[in-house]
Amino acid sequence: MFLTSDEQEDFRQAVRQMCEDKVAPHAAECDEKAQYPWHAHEAFSAMGLMGLTFPEDCGGSGADHVTWAICIEEIARVDAASSLIPAICDLAMTPVMRYGSKEIQQRFMKPICEGRAQASYCLSEAEAGSDVASMTTKAVRDGDEWVINGRKQWITNAGISDFYTVFAKTDRSAGHRGISAFVVEKDTPGFSVGKLEHKLGIRASPTGEVILEDVRVPHENLVGEEGKGFYYAMGTFDWSRPVIGAQAVGIAQGALDYASNYMNERRTFGQPLTSYQGLQFMVADMAMEIEAARGLVYRASAMADTNHPDLTRMASMAKCFAGDVAMKVTTDAVQLLGGYGFTKEFPVERMFRDAKITQIYEGTNQIQRMVIARKTFTGVR
Ligand SMILES: Cc1cc2nc3c(=O)[nH]c(=O)nc-3n(C[C@H](O)[C@H](O)[C@H](O)COP(=O)(O)OP(=O)(O)OC[C@H]3O[C@@H](n4cnc5c(N)ncnc54)[C@H](O)[C@@H]3O)c2cc1C
Repeated sequence: MFLTSDEQEDFRQAVRQMCEDKVAPHAAECDEKAQYPWHAHEAFSAMGLMGLTFPEDCGGSGADHVTWAICIEEIARVDAASSLIPAICDLAMTPVMRYGSKEIQQRFMKPICEGRAQASYCLSEAEAGSDVASMTTKAVRDGDEWVINGRKQWITNAGISDFYTVFAKTDRSAGHRGISAFVVEKDTPGFSVGKLEHKLGIRASPTGEVILEDVRVPHENLVGEEGKGFYYAMGTFDWSRPVIGAQAVGIAQGALDYASNYMNERRTFGQPLTSYQGLQFMVADMAMEIEAARGLVYRASAMADTNHPDLTRMASMAKCFAGDVAMKVTTDAVQLLGGYGFTKEFPVERMFRDAKITQIYEGTNQIQRMVIARKTFTGVR
């Protein structure tokens, strides 16, 4: 049986209070204006949530991954877009943390923990989303430097971040074995941000194109070993997919909490909505599905701490199941509010739009099902 500790639940309460006070009041306006929630970044930095899982010698707190999941879940409960602030920095720095030298870790992770910098993860391209190995961005060695050329698409926090973890082909004849990872700083000549997307959800989190034209980075900015980038990217997903699962659980919980409070207040035919069995059964299903998703997310997160041999399968299950639950629960939450749920006056409309992305990014839920099926057939547990 898996239970969270008292310490983890105390942490949840502290993050929840901070989010209710400092993040929730601005969520609707930031969504409406597609405005980056800098106030949230400030609050997260002050509470030590930036780099929560980073090692202490890099300025982090060295927190376990269940605590990390609780952190993202609680932020997403009030605002999914704000939850991407620490989540994307963690995603971008996971290859550095897991595979990089101490020197590169100190250089890029410390400023994030101190609230002085943020980071983005640049894997996808216009023609290389699910099929990342078909990327065309390339890096060529020139003495002590690498010269990078290409265009990355869909990059979360493009234009906000200071550091960009960029995957590029260093040997075009070697397929997925010819990919390497680099950290690029935003002020490097040849680096620019292109078009920003106009999106359905997580509108306060910018998503855009990253353009690299003869960008020169020192050899020290190569993460780990040359040619291991694809392996690093997939290894990173083992750690980060449970985090997207946590985001999905948070969005779903926020929608359920709002809908159940609303049902206590709203009366039809002289009765509160909570009195109708048809609606009670909907709420019971929503609550069950969220708990099941949370269980998978925490189990996969606990496996990330030990790099468990079954982590890849569980990380995909957690992300896929929780994303599907978030979409279903938020759809039902809109239904429970009736016509009001369909308006921007009530936050379930935003949560419904935000839930959709959890079925798409960090590998679509079709790709997760492919991973789960492959692991099931090969019997890896
Ligand atoms: C808001 C947002 C933020 C993002 N942030 C980042 C980021 O920070 N960094 C980053 O690198 N990327 C990011 N992405 C990219 C994201 O990970 C990709 O969009 C995603 O992996 C899907 O790739 P694609 O869009 O090219 O879809 P495609 O790969 O073209 O897929 C299209 C459809 O076909 C399905 N499909 C594809 N191949 C198969 C198959 N073999 N079998 C069955 N079905 C298949 C997919 O599931 C999907 O339904 C972001 C995307 C969005 C929308």
